[in-house]
Amino acid sequence: MPKQDVIPDEILREALEANGQRFTEQRAAVYRFLASTDKHPTADEVFLAVRSEVPVISLATVYKSLETLVGCGLAVKLTYGDGSARYDGRTDPHHHARCVQCSRIFDLPGHLPREDLSALEQGSDGFQVTGYRLELTGFCRECAEPSSSEEREST
Ligand SMILES: [Zn+2]
Ligand SMILES: [Zn+2]
Repeated sequence: MPKQDVIPDEILREALEANGQRFTEQRAAVYRFLASTDKHPTADEVFLAVRSEVPVISLATVYKSLETLVGCGLAVKLTYGDGSARYDGRTDPHHHARCVQCSRIFDLPGHLPREDLSALEQGSDGFQVTGYRLELTGFCRECAEPSSSEEREST
């Protein structure tokens, strides 16, 4: 199920053109896939998904389309210390939980009140805070379940 409304092509065209970008079928396909999934895919995963719809698309085009969408505020890029990146079609403020086993990213429904960060800010020595990113790390439900012995038996 889509987690938010996928905006129609006409609105997407306007949003791209407002940022000096052209509407292309490749960009639209990348956007539609990203906005319809809550899996926070990598560029590779977007490429594999979109290729069935737009067979001529290349991985390089997918990369560029993703960066264009991020630049236009139509997607969010999540970067990690190991240099990997995932993309989020959901652009409203929300927080994530990341499984350290399977690397999947989950949207958290809850919100931390801005005031709760004031304790951190007080020790930041003049640092001007403009935003924050919160990510919980741990094991997702599937990875936390002790089912690995069953899988080993079936192979
Ligand atoms: Zn997991
Ligand atoms: Zn998200």
